Parts: sequence; C-alpha cells; structure tokens
Amino acid sequence: MTIYQPTQLHNFLNSLNTRAKKSLSQNFLIDGNILRKIVKTADVQPGDLVVEIGPGPGALTQVLLQAGAHVIAIEKDPVFAEALSRLQTEDGRLTVYCEDVLEFSFESSIPRSAKVVANLPYHITTPVLAKLLPLHTLFSSITVMVQKEVGERMTAVRGTSAYSSLTLFLEYYAKATYGFTVEPTCFFPAPKVQSAVIKLLLKETRKDISAESFFVLTRTAFGKRRKMLRASLKTVFPHIESALQRAGIAGTLRPEELSLSDFIRLFLEVQQGEGHAQHQGPHDQRQNEVLSDESLSLKPIGSR
Ligand code: SAM
Repeated sequence: MTIYQPTQLHNFLNSLNTRAKKSLSQNFLIDGNILRKIVKTADVQPGDLVVEIGPGPGALTQVLLQAGAHVIAIEKDPVFAEALSRLQTEDGRLTVYCEDVLEFSFESSIPRSAKVVANLPYHITTPVLAKLLPLHTLFSSITVMVQKEVGERMTAVRGTSAYSSLTLFLEYYAKATYGFTVEPTCFFPAPKVQSAVIKLLLKETRKDISAESFFVLTRTAFGKRRKMLRASLKTVFPHIESALQRAGIAGTLRPEELSLSDFIRLFLEVQQGEGHAQHQGPHDQRQNEVLSDESLSLKPIGSR
C-alpha cells in the first residue's frame, strides 16, 4: 500500500484512529518525488544498512525498502511503530524499535556501518545531530530533512550570518552538503517553514584533541558573536590574549571570521597555555548545549 498520497494518508490515519501530533513534530511527507529524491541523495544501494529516525506512517521507510536496504527504524509513537510491521519484506529487512531516539543505544543496535536517512522531528534536530555525530564511526553518511534555516546553518560558509557553532560542530565531524529545498506543501499537515535536505559525509576526526573541550571554545566564542574574540573568550579562558598571539589570530576578530582550522590552532594554544581543559567552563554540558550560540538562542530552531 502506498501512503504518500494525501487521501491515502488521511484514510490510513483514520484506520489507526490517530492524527498528526504537533508535540512529536509529525509532518508527514506526501510527495513521492521528494521521497525518491531523499533516497537518491542518500545514495542508498541494495544491501545497505539504513537507520531511519521517525518513520511515522512509513512513506520513506517504504521507498528505502524498495531500494533494497535493510532498515532499522526508530519511532517514538507506538501507534506508528506497531503499524510499520505491515511493511516487512519477505526477507525480513525491516527492524522497528519503538523508542525515543535520544535514549536509543546505537552502539549496541547497529551491527555494521550504516547510513542515516530521516525526515527529522524538527523539535529535536540539534540534540539528534549532537548525539549522532560523535558516533561517527558507526555511520558513513547522514541525510536529513531539517528546517531550512537550520540547513543553512549546517552548510554555512565562513563570514556569513548563518556561520555558527553548529556549522563548526558539523565540519569537525563531516563534510556537509545542501541537497535541496522542500516546500511546506509537500507535507501533511503543512509546516509553517520551508525545509531542506542536508547530506553529511562522515570523516576521520582528530585524535589529539578533546572534542568536548574544543566545542566549549567555539560555543563560548559564538555565544557572544558580535564581540571581539579577546572579549568573548576572556571570561572562560583567562589567558586568551597570549593564546591568540601565539596562534597568530588577531583578538579583534569576530568568531565568524575564523575557520575550523583557525579555531583548532587557537584551541591547541589555549591548552598549551593553561594545561589540558583548564578553562572555567562546565565540563558536563549536554552535547546539544555545545551547539547553542547567540543567534540560535535568539531565534529558536526546530519548530515547524
Ligand atoms: N518519516 C515520516 C515522513 O517523512 O513522513 C515522518 C516524519 S515526521 C517529521 C517525524 C517523526 O519522528 C514522527 O513520526 C514522530 O512520531 C517521530 N518522532 C518524534 N520524536 C521522536 C523521538 N524522540 N524519537 C523517535 N521518533 C520521534
């Protein structure tokens, strides 16, 4: 059964005696071309292992299975999780977990390198990315539909207003590409915002630095993005002036003027000057807090 035609989706929701829940960001894709384009962007091949987050009624799941993939689907809504069994293939390529993706143990459930493909629940975009990227050895690529504004931050170039701590976080782990824009009319119910499909190709990360401590530096810098680096970083890193000097970075620059490698150079000098992770920032921050910056908190992301 195809469920990406609007009438069929309505009938399907009625048959389950359910409706789209705003609290779970349930905006379902009703455009077959977009579904196929997502799977093409993700370069899904027969035999691939795909992790789908938030399959919902299963329109994307169905296209992934048709492409020959083995699909591990993680859905929080039990009504949809249960109904997904109807999509099971003869050779059993679909595994469904009824769980919150933020609690899900990827390490114990992913037997081999996988591709993540998802029309993400937008209210948890940042925490999902913050969870997935540090698990980069499990995934070869992550192809996700996100709010367009977030997609622009994910793929922003240095010097633009969309360049943020999120951009640097992603660039640290992956090469991000803007796939395509998706209009609200492609969903039911239609969201208020445009969407974008973003592809992340995971890469090797540096072994010589603590990613968590490094992101405290980038987050602190972007936390006051209109301030000069020497002012924004001084409170957390007391010896920042000398570290900036040694790194050859002018303290008068704003964070959006620095590349990822500039930040890494600065971080290494900060560590040299202060001893490993001797900053005054909290060490136990949740990964998603690592991503927040001034502009993100001014305009909350993740609402449709
Ligand atoms: N994949 C479907 C599609 O494209 O039509 C549905 C996408 S919809 C934007 C997001 C889906 O994520 C919903 O099915 C929702 O129930 C599910 N979801 C929301 N929060 C979740 C969570 N914390 N863990 C797992 N799934 C979640």
